[in-house]
Amino acid sequence: MTSVLITNARVLDVHGGEYLEGTNILIADDSIAEIGGGEIKALPESIVIDAKGRTVLPGLIDGHVHVTASTADMSALAEWSPTYVAARAGHILRDMLHRGFTTVRDMGGADHGLADAVREGYFPGPRLLFGGKALSQTGGHGDMRHPSRIVTDDHPCRAGVGVVCDGADEVRKAAREQLRTGAHHIKLMLSGGVASPTDRVDSTQLSLDEIRAAVEEAEAANRYVAGHAYTARAINRALLCGVRSIEHGNLLDETSIELFKQQGAFYVPTLVTYRALAEEGPRHGLPEGSHRKVSDVLEHGLRALELAHRGGVEIVFGSDLLGGMHPHQSEEFSIRAAVQPTIDVIRSATSVAARLVGLQGRIGEITPGACADILMVEGDPLNDIAVLARPDKHLKLVMKAGRIMHQS
Ligand code: ZN
Ligand code: ZN
Repeated sequence: MTSVLITNARVLDVHGGEYLEGTNILIADDSIAEIGGGEIKALPESIVIDAKGRTVLPGLIDGHVHVTASTADMSALAEWSPTYVAARAGHILRDMLHRGFTTVRDMGGADHGLADAVREGYFPGPRLLFGGKALSQTGGHGDMRHPSRIVTDDHPCRAGVGVVCDGADEVRKAAREQLRTGAHHIKLMLSGGVASPTDRVDSTQLSLDEIRAAVEEAEAANRYVAGHAYTARAINRALLCGVRSIEHGNLLDETSIELFKQQGAFYVPTLVTYRALAEEGPRHGLPEGSHRKVSDVLEHGLRALELAHRGGVEIVFGSDLLGGMHPHQSEEFSIRAAVQPTIDVIRSATSVAARLVGLQGRIGEITPGACADILMVEGDPLNDIAVLARPDKHLKLVMKAGRIMHQS
């Protein structure tokens, strides 16, 4: 057995929203064994880390990433060698871990091979909850063909974020293909988006029977569906079909808020990516046609977050960055803090995100029995969100499943 004792920590209880001062945490193998005061003692084999009163909080969860998207040109990505894509994904994963993210939910592109590479330690990175390829209709947000390209190449080894399928039977088969590889969720493209070359942001995508087929398959496997959607029209039909998480949702309205609560669904805004795409997208491969679409959604994102927060919707942290814009990941914290209290922003990246992925009690909290995903930071994140938004300045230690992965 391996064991670590962290002493004299100021532990953030994300449920109560308060600090537990002078706390000791005993870690045995990959889990937290005990938490308390001075009565919690080191085992003979324990490594002891003196936190010196610094803040300790659960490892962060990013609910919307694309770890294989090392360019913002998604059509080009689909032409790259999958081994080259994997090598670059290794660096994206490592950097996410070094920013304090110990679990990420991939929303299109990552597969079981990448998740295995992380779990077995070949790539240092966050626990990778993957869904395989995102399911898209012809001409939808996962169809990265330019208008003049006729043939589709949906070979499963092809890099890229999506697979094209039309009709309930093809959607069902594609969902089963992802589930067959151990997918944690099924991702559906349910409206147009920014990075796709031929669709409109205000379109709806996939028919109701196609969406229901995917939801049925996911639920049969005790998994769930996440849906990319922008407008209230696209969001509401997804929620009514049983989609568990809505990604982006920038153009939601009051009718959507009611449906979120009625269905017990989660909202995953991804605000930082629009700012990054607007400012630096073209530099990182975003085609001009996509860059023009950013303004359709950029302005509405904060208002959607505010509506959802006031309406009591379960909100999860997401960043959705592409290519060379990944280093902006933690800035999502400060963008949201303009609308939500800091504790709610922190919960979105810990306890609420854990509920979305069905790992409550295991990740996103520091309690006995939870996975030992632990960060140590300099500063007071409850009163200063910059502590999380600037990990380069504040993050001192990252532990994932009881192992120290990064120190500075
Ligand atoms: Zn999306
Ligand atoms: Zn995305």
